[in-house]
Amino acid sequence: MIRIENLHKSYVTGLNKLHVLKGIDLDIRSGELVSVMGSSGSGKSTLLNIIGILDNYDQGNYILDNLLIKEMSEKKAALLRNKYIGFVFQSFNLISFKNAMENVALPLYYQKVSLKKRNLAAMEFLDRMGLKEWATHHPSELSGGQKQRIAIARALITKPKIILADEPTGALDTATSYEVMEIFKEINDLGITVIIVTHEKDISEMTNKIIRLKDGFIESINGEKLLVDEYEKEYSHV
Ligand code: ADP
Ligand code: MG
Repeated sequence: MIRIENLHKSYVTGLNKLHVLKGIDLDIRSGELVSVMGSSGSGKSTLLNIIGILDNYDQGNYILDNLLIKEMSEKKAALLRNKYIGFVFQSFNLISFKNAMENVALPLYYQKVSLKKRNLAAMEFLDRMGLKEWATHHPSELSGGQKQRIAIARALITKPKIILADEPTGALDTATSYEVMEIFKEINDLGITVIIVTHEKDISEMTNKIIRLKDGFIESINGEKLLVDEYEKEYSHV
């Protein structure tokens, strides 16, 4: 589903260049439940944003479902995001002046689905999250866990193949975090590929593949170190 080859990404601000991803190689198969770990600033969000076609990269290849994602127009990127990807963020990113149902329905508005149809679909996804009774409530009236479940319903409403979640439990207490992780597991059980960025060990241990980033490289996958010399040996021919 996702193939990343020798991916490099730098940020340039003024005269400074920050090399964040320094040659990432990664394969994620359809239906995997993956976490990305690493200390703050290690490039987790950068990698996730590239996978989500929210950002471009400088070197290497990113292949999504056999499609090379490179130097793409914003219009094409938006179409592909719409088709493949649902996003969940730490801060929920709900619209405060819209109620729960309207928030969940929003992606269908951009797909020009009629009001009646998109609200019906939103109610169905709210129901799946156990939040049907909260449909007319605004985000300020909801708990963190409820807000995140609404954000997940919004991510699912376009029936994506991949859910990308950037520290989705970062603003939640432990018990609520575990509830949200149960939802991600259920989503994954439906066959949707789920990639979760986290710096919490217990959260990552609920996934089936733990990718650890360090200094711009993948340090380990499931605890198995990719030692630098071995790494260089293996890829020196490329
Ligand atoms: P993480 O999510 O692992 O904390 P990020 O991917 O957000 O790390 O950031 C990696 C590094 O790149 C950090 O040093 C951060 O300050 C820097 N960075 C992130 N986004 C930008 C940007 N848009 N412009 C400049 N620097 C950035
Ligand atoms: Mg981040």
